[in-house]
Amino acid sequence: MATAKAQRTCGFDAIQEQISQHQNYDNYLLNKNLSYKKFKQSKADTVIRIPVVVHVIHRLSSENISTSQINSQLAVLNKDFRKLNADTTNAVSWSKADVKFEFILATKDPNGNPSNGITRTATTVDNICNTNQYFSLVPAWNRDRYLNIWVCDVGNNLLGFAWPPNAPNVSPQEDGVVIGSNYFGTTGTAKAPWNLGRTTTHEIGHFFDLLHPWGSDLSPSCNTDDLVSDTPNQNAPEYDCGSRFSCNSADQMSNFLQYVDDACMGNFTLGQKTRMRTALYTQRDSLQFGALFEITSVSELSSTFNPLIFPNPSNGTFQVKLPENTNLNQVEIEVIDLTGKLVKCETKKGFNGLVIDFNSAPSGVYFVSVKNGEFSSTKKLVRH
Ligand SMILES: [Zn+2]
Repeated sequence: MATAKAQRTCGFDAIQEQISQHQNYDNYLLNKNLSYKKFKQSKADTVIRIPVVVHVIHRLSSENISTSQINSQLAVLNKDFRKLNADTTNAVSWSKADVKFEFILATKDPNGNPSNGITRTATTVDNICNTNQYFSLVPAWNRDRYLNIWVCDVGNNLLGFAWPPNAPNVSPQEDGVVIGSNYFGTTGTAKAPWNLGRTTTHEIGHFFDLLHPWGSDLSPSCNTDDLVSDTPNQNAPEYDCGSRFSCNSADQMSNFLQYVDDACMGNFTLGQKTRMRTALYTQRDSLQFGALFEITSVSELSSTFNPLIFPNPSNGTFQVKLPENTNLNQVEIEVIDLTGKLVKCETKKGFNGLVIDFNSAPSGVYFVSVKNGEFSSTKKLVRH
């Protein structure tokens, strides 16, 4: 007789269920669909670095996981989201995407003080993260600048959960990803079969609006799917490992959004990549600039790709000139204020010496980011 084996659980379905009951559900859907529709896939396919803060909340000393366990999780993310994981071979015949997200532990807290990107807080509350108390105890750092990950006792046999972008029932203090301390990273307290860091890869997928491959319905059915065209339709969660068939096609067992064991996962699809990047550029648009705040000195801003931005200081307009012989296909210029908000965005093809007008922005310090699909450069600009 087979012994009962633990199965992956994820709190995302319950969150989706709450959202669908919310009085603002129709608005939420409408706004999301509008922003996705308006979004043009003209954004450069560049690597986006996302600052992460890990909030460790511990009742038991074992829950106060080590820094090396945290680092082991970051290493997994930087493989899985860059298609550098050795087990992409688990994806037999599916598209395997390099999502081009990289995750760095924050080096500064929201006040600009040096930080290692980890907070540690003791609690006496059991299952602190299965209650609404985790964010009262440790509120999120500015969600426009950091991906907040709480590592704690989630209880209720849940491995973790995540909030999708702009959920109508989430507060800025709780928006992020929550992972049980036994399912985080690959060392220390990480427990098989969830000891390869894939719970966090999976939940960050939800954070960027991915659904489970079987869709949002809780009972088995082929009627709903994950709104991604290159993941096959699937009628219910798949567990463990192996190969299965449902809704007239083979299920993509290796997908990171599946419920299979960590060792059997291996890929996001190209469609999932597009959905995540669209979510980042629209619903979580400030987060793409979070890494700018990790820059500690002006000298770090310069790179071999060195466009001219002048005059600086500016009176509300400035010109951007790219170096000779650079690719002028799809040049993207963005002006970002110090809170991380996008003030101005221009995309041009085959044109050098573009004049940017941001007269309506108040005096202050801004970042100007210039990308051309191959390179990117960011500079500080003072507006008088
Ligand atoms: Zn999930």
